[in-house]
Amino acid sequence: MNKQGKVWLVGAGPSDEGLLTIKGKTVLQQADVVVYDKLVGYGILNLIPLTAKKINVGKTAGSHPIPQEKINRILLEEAQKGQRVVRLKGGDPFVFGRGGEELELLVQHQIPFEIVPGVTSAVSVAAYAGIPITHRDYASSFHVITAHKKHNSKIKIDYQSLTKLGGTLVFLMGVGAVAEVCEGLLKAGMNQHMPAAILEQGTTAYQRRVVATISDLAQQALKQQIQSPAIIVVGEVCKLSERFHWAEDRPLGQRRVIVTRPKKRASVLAEKLRDLGAEVVELPTIQTHVLQRNTRLGQAFCEMYTYSWIVFTSVTGVEAFFQKLIESRIDVRTLSSLKFAAIGSATKQAIEQRGILVEYMPLCYDAHALAEGLAKRVHTQEKVLIPRALHGTEQLTEILARHQVAFDDVPIYETVMNQHAPIELKEQDIVAFTSASTVKGFVQTFGTDFDYTGVCAVCIGEQTAQQAKKYQMNVIVAKEATIDSMIETIKKEVIR
Ligand code: SAH
Repeated sequence: MNKQGKVWLVGAGPSDEGLLTIKGKTVLQQADVVVYDKLVGYGILNLIPLTAKKINVGKTAGSHPIPQEKINRILLEEAQKGQRVVRLKGGDPFVFGRGGEELELLVQHQIPFEIVPGVTSAVSVAAYAGIPITHRDYASSFHVITAHKKHNSKIKIDYQSLTKLGGTLVFLMGVGAVAEVCEGLLKAGMNQHMPAAILEQGTTAYQRRVVATISDLAQQALKQQIQSPAIIVVGEVCKLSERFHWAEDRPLGQRRVIVTRPKKRASVLAEKLRDLGAEVVELPTIQTHVLQRNTRLGQAFCEMYTYSWIVFTSVTGVEAFFQKLIESRIDVRTLSSLKFAAIGSATKQAIEQRGILVEYMPLCYDAHALAEGLAKRVHTQEKVLIPRALHGTEQLTEILARHQVAFDDVPIYETVMNQHAPIELKEQDIVAFTSASTVKGFVQTFGTDFDYTGVCAVCIGEQTAQQAKKYQMNVIVAKEATIDSMIETIKKEVIR
C-alpha cells in the first residue's frame, strides 16, 4: 500500500529563528518536502534536513513568481506521492498568508493536514521595537489590516471605522502605501499628532524603526528609505518605543554572525552569540568523515604497545579515535600505559570526558607550541601516535622530526567542503572561522572571484588567520584558541 502523505501548514514567525515554535521545528526536521516563502528566516531554512526537497515559491510584493494555484497544486501532488510536506510561511499561516486557500484543494482530495500557528509579525515586530501592542493606559484593542495594493488601485480601507475604534492599528504589506494610509486616517479625523511607526526587517540584525506621527511618517519613511518587509503601527503605544527599545541595544543586537564550523560543533558558539543578541547564520562550510577501511590505524591499534604518547589535535580526532577503537572491539584499557597530549582545552575536555587525564597541553593552543612542548617531554626511546585529520598541518610533524621525536602521523578523518547557495553578505556581518579548513570551505562557497576585502573574519588562531589573510579579509585573531576567547574578541574588537 502507498504511504499516506500529509501536509503541515507551518508558521515560521517573523524571521528570528528563536521565534519558530517547538512544534514547527519538530515537523520541519521530519519533512520530506518543504515549500517555503521569501520571508522565512535563513536560520529556519537551515533547519530543513539536507535530504528534504526544497521548493522556493517566494513572492515579492506586487509580483507572484509562482501563482497561488500552482502552489496549491504542488502541495497536493507532493502529498499524493506519500510525502510529508511542510508548507512553511512567514509569521502565522492564517494572517494574510493565504493559508485558507491552500487548504481548499487538500480538503477536496482528502489529504490529511495540520496547522502549526506561528508568531505573527503584526505583534512580534512591534515587540522587538519596544512597542507593546496593547497597554492599559493607551490601547485596549489592536487591529491588523492589509494595506496591499492590487495593480496600483487604491486600497479599500474603512478609515472612518478604524479611527473610531481607538485601538492600535497595524498595517501589513504597507510600505508602498504609507502616505495613502496616513492620509486616509487624517481625513477620517484622527489626531494629526497620533504617534505612528514603521518597522523594517523586524527581529533580524538589520531591523530599523522610524517613529513619527501620522502627519510626517510617510516623509520620514521615505527619507530613511524604508523598504519591504515592514509593518506600520499607528497608536499611542508607538511613543513607548523610545523608552522600551531593546533588541538592537544588545551587545551583538545589530550583528549577523556567520558560523562556518561543522553543524555538530557549531552549537556552543552559536548559543553564546545568540545570548549576546546576534543573529546567527550557521553556514557549515566543511564536514568531517571518519575514514573507513583505515589500514594504517588498524596497524597502529595492533602495535599500540610500541607507543608512549597519543597526541590529539582536535575534538573530532578524539571522537573518531574512540569510535574506531570500539568498532575494532579494542578495550580502552589497552591504552592504560600511554600518556595523552591535547592541543587545547576543548580537545583536552573531550579526552578527559572519557575518564583519561591529559598529561600535556601547551599554554598556547597551536600546533607549534604543542610540537615544541612535546619535544621536551618525549624521551628518546618513546614513540608518539598522532591520530588526526588527513592533510593536517605539517608544522606539527616538521618540528617533531627536527627534534628527532619518533612518531606515526595517522589520518583518522577527512574534511570535505560543503556546497551552499551562498547568502548575500552584508557590511555589518561577522564571519567566525574556527579552523583553516573552514576558511577554505568558505572561499569555495563564495568562489575565488568574490571580493573578500570587506569580510570581517574573526579567527580562532594564527593558522586560521593566515588562511583568511590570503584573501585579504579583515582579520581579527582571538587571544586564545578557544570559543570563549573568540566571543571576547568579538565583544572587544568588533563592537564599537
Ligand atoms: N503571515 C505573515 C504576514 C504575511 S504578509 C505574518 O503573520 O506575519 C507579509 C507582510 O508581513 C510584509 O509585507 C510585512 O508587512 C509583514 N512582515 C513579515 N515579516 C516581517 C518582518 N520581519 N519585519 C517587518 N514586517 C514583516
